[in-house]
Amino acid sequence: MSIDLHVHTGLSPCAHKEMSPWNIIRMAQLEDLALIAITDHNTVANVGVVMQVGARLGLPVLAGMEVQTQEEVHLLAIFPDLDAALAFEGFIWQYLPDIPNRPEAFGEQILYDCEDGRVGQVQRLLLQSVELGIEEVGKAIVACEGLIIASHINRRGYSLVGQLGFVPPGLPLDAVEIDRSFLYERFINEYGGLGEYPVLRNSDAHQLTDLVGGFQSEMFMEKPDFEFIKELLRAGDRQWIRIG
Ligand SMILES: [Zn+2]
Ligand SMILES: [Zn+2]
Repeated sequence: MSIDLHVHTGLSPCAHKEMSPWNIIRMAQLEDLALIAITDHNTVANVGVVMQVGARLGLPVLAGMEVQTQEEVHLLAIFPDLDAALAFEGFIWQYLPDIPNRPEAFGEQILYDCEDGRVGQVQRLLLQSVELGIEEVGKAIVACEGLIIASHINRRGYSLVGQLGFVPPGLPLDAVEIDRSFLYERFINEYGGLGEYPVLRNSDAHQLTDLVGGFQSEMFMEKPDFEFIKELLRAGDRQWIRIG
């Protein structure tokens, strides 16, 4: 089953406004994805509606967030359910500086309803660092029973490797992510030190066409859900996870 654990909605100021619940679900189904996770920057405010539309159209959607830590590292947090994701958001927002978004400079932060209607905007700027170190963010994800995936580690900016160059000892990473264009062989050559972690490839979709191409990770699962993904990532045996 192909899965994509890194998809932004129009709530992320940097994402295209075509990233609405129906558009995302329909495009994911056209691409034969068996499951997606919604991971906007520092918020889960659109996750609930995308989950509802997914349930209506028959595509499982996981609740996630892409957190930006104090070190400017992006981490994907993937949760067992919406309540856990909301609890994490409640915690993290205490450390998200109360700086208003300037849509003309950074982009709109759009909230949708279940019919793709635009129902408002998040006022606080989402694309900024929370005032928490990476290990503290990691602890909070674990406390909410989430999985931790280091985003786009092959990029210089906003990645664990680019910003820190190492995995902090107190960060229980479940996986590392590489870009759609980055070959697995290159990962092995250049990031051999991260070989102990499972590698996933996700779209980091900011527009619909980012979902196209079938490069996402494949997992051999009985059922596309959080528990199977967690089991596969934490099992020592990697043969059940494949990336192109
Ligand atoms: Zn990112
Ligand atoms: Zn992203």
